[in-house]
Amino acid sequence: LGRLARPDLFSDLAGIALGGKAWSGAEFDVLNPSTGALLARLPDMGPSETRDAIDRAAEAQGVWQSLPAKDKSAVMRRWHQLIVLHSDDLATILTAEMGKPLTEAKSEVAHAAAYVQWYAEEANRIYGETISAPSNDRRMLVIKQPVGVVGTITPWNFPASMVARKISPALAAGCAIVLKPAEQTPLVAGAMFVLARLAGFPEGALNLIYASHGADVGAELCTNARIRKISFTGSTEVGRLLMSQCAPQIKKLNLELGGNAPFIVFDDADIDEAVEGAIQAKFRNGGQTCVSANRIYVQSAVHDEFSEKFVARVAELKVGDGFDPEVTIGPMIDSHAIDKIEAHLADAGARGGTIRCGGKRVGNGGTFFEPTVLTGVTSAMRVAQEETFGPLAPIIRFDDAEQVVREANDTIYGLAAYFYASNLKRVWRVAEALEYGMVGINTGRMSSEAAPFGGVKQSGIGREGSRHGMEDYLEMKYLCMGGI
Ligand code: ADP
Repeated sequence: LGRLARPDLFSDLAGIALGGKAWSGAEFDVLNPSTGALLARLPDMGPSETRDAIDRAAEAQGVWQSLPAKDKSAVMRRWHQLIVLHSDDLATILTAEMGKPLTEAKSEVAHAAAYVQWYAEEANRIYGETISAPSNDRRMLVIKQPVGVVGTITPWNFPASMVARKISPALAAGCAIVLKPAEQTPLVAGAMFVLARLAGFPEGALNLIYASHGADVGAELCTNARIRKISFTGSTEVGRLLMSQCAPQIKKLNLELGGNAPFIVFDDADIDEAVEGAIQAKFRNGGQTCVSANRIYVQSAVHDEFSEKFVARVAELKVGDGFDPEVTIGPMIDSHAIDKIEAHLADAGARGGTIRCGGKRVGNGGTFFEPTVLTGVTSAMRVAQEETFGPLAPIIRFDDAEQVVREANDTIYGLAAYFYASNLKRVWRVAEALEYGMVGINTGRMSSEAAPFGGVKQSGIGREGSRHGMEDYLEMKYLCMGGI
């Protein structure tokens, strides 16, 4: 925390977005959500700075694209090393601006570094294709080329790993970047850009825009013809808006949007493991993740055992400032988040749900909320229909295994689902029947740089991570050689 008070750190963070230019415009505050303390004041940039950044990126596009794969990989490996070297500082900044427990911040930074490393390696593995031509006078092949400049917008819940997960595959594919991080958490993104500069990316390959309101910058990114692709993680509502803004130019999009993850415990599950998995899937990041378990379905025969063990385990969680080493749940990002949890609780209470533990704000100030378990929940309640995005775990009792899969699928979302079972036949059938982009089977945690992260239905378009994540930033070009 001492380091955070260092004034030159924040002039570095502002400078990295301004390219060394002086700033005389409006500024916005970045606050610590645990204490309300002012952490930094950053330039509040808008459409004209965004246009300049896009111009710089467009100029750098050719330089970065034409660098041999081995050289791109080397710069990215240096960036990875610098992130690892500075991971304690990055985690400290992350906890200060976002609130999550420092241990979770450290694991997020490690995850961010893992994406950079993975795609530093993938930069060397862009393959084309040769095709057997239907006649002898021609040869057919496919080459892969970067889509061009990518505009990226990231959310506040994983301020470091979302930046890495989005821009690493794009950079590895040969795309220049303009990034706008969430207004609540721009500092760790800034610090990562400072490290990227030290790593030696060509001037203009990575550009950062700080803004207190996403809308103007987002509109510029979507409508500026020099941006060839938008990559966004955030709410479905904003995703829909960006998609409509991209429509006139048929601009390509990667979208990672909301979820309403079911977590199903069947009667043949290992209950102790299911309880641990549910704790992970529900309370990591205080429940503020798009893959958080939002509806916990438990089969009748194991319902009471699961609920009792789960409530006992939830009682061990500690809410507070993320810098306290005993704390496992930090603050909610803002008071709107608390309002939503309280609205879901009030609705469930009015319709017969029972609060088994928690249920209240913690203290008078701050945005802390107790980890809460509700039983007697039905599918009609808001808590089962909308993403709560907080530490509220609703338990829904079920009898019929086929019916529960139908209920689990009865949502506009399709990001992550989880289930616990041991019967192999059931495991396969349920895994195949769930209409989700990702299914955790006997685990509450599945995100990895080696695996494709993404959703179906209104949870998004495209995948991030793995070799598939790289394909989203490459165009294929068919070459046909005639007269042979
Ligand atoms: P949340 O509700 O979790 O904050 P949002 O979708 O509102 O999710 O925010 C995710 C990211 O989208 C943030 O970087 C935010 O600044 C940005 N954003 C919000 N509104 C818009 C918009 N109209 N156009 C472009 N970006 C936006």
